[in-house]
Amino acid sequence: MSLELELKELLEELKRYFECQKILGLDTIALAREKKNEESSETYRKELKYSVLTEKRTRIYIEEQLGIFDKPSKKLTLEEIREEIGDCTRCKLHQGRTNIVFGEGNPKARLVFVGEGPGEEEDKQGRPFVGRAGQLLTKIIIAMGLRRSDVYICNVVKCRPPGNRSPEPDEAGTCEQYLFKQLRAIDPDIIVCLGSVAAQSVLRIKEKLGNLRGKFHSYGRAKVMVTYHPAALLRNPGYKKPLWDDMQIVIKEL
Ligand code: URA
Repeated sequence: MSLELELKELLEELKRYFECQKILGLDTIALAREKKNEESSETYRKELKYSVLTEKRTRIYIEEQLGIFDKPSKKLTLEEIREEIGDCTRCKLHQGRTNIVFGEGNPKARLVFVGEGPGEEEDKQGRPFVGRAGQLLTKIIIAMGLRRSDVYICNVVKCRPPGNRSPEPDEAGTCEQYLFKQLRAIDPDIIVCLGSVAAQSVLRIKEKLGNLRGKFHSYGRAKVMVTYHPAALLRNPGYKKPLWDDMQIVIKEL
């Protein structure tokens, strides 16, 4: 890559970074340099490629691992999946729900965001990520140069856990098959797991979020980025920078 082109890319990245920081409400800029920035971009790119390749070799395709599809070739449409869910009573979460929150967005999205489960506002409206955390997610999507309608947004569980607690293993275990079917229907290039509940479902690993973020994992042919849940950002603004770093990697890949 020519120096001029590299400089142009760098400036664009910097511009996106500051725009996002502004949207996220940050008014001061840290001038400390990270180790990653000191490495040449070429080395960084090579490392990223290597980590994606090793992940691909070692990870078993989740659909085969779980055997959730009768036939490996069976691919339902989003409408068919919603129909299959019906007026679901498969787990105890149905008792407290107002609406099933299936998911929304572009059925052919290249980028899918996966959260853990609906909150109060989502339960009321039947739409994912429309509460406070959702508004922050919308800002992040816009800062990435996209619209909500460009991407697909869904959750591991489709009914609101009481008091916004995390879904319990039996609830996630019952409902996640529909997430996997949605992912198969959409066939995205990139999946962003927001928080560790989504990461555990999609990647089948129990690992600290801090150890998973910042690099690509795989789910079939899709690359998976794990990052902080927007609700965690509302509680701890210190997560803004690592989240934005993760989204930069996603933008570059898109
Ligand atoms: N948190 C989630 O994980 N999902 C939503 O849809 C809303 C908040």
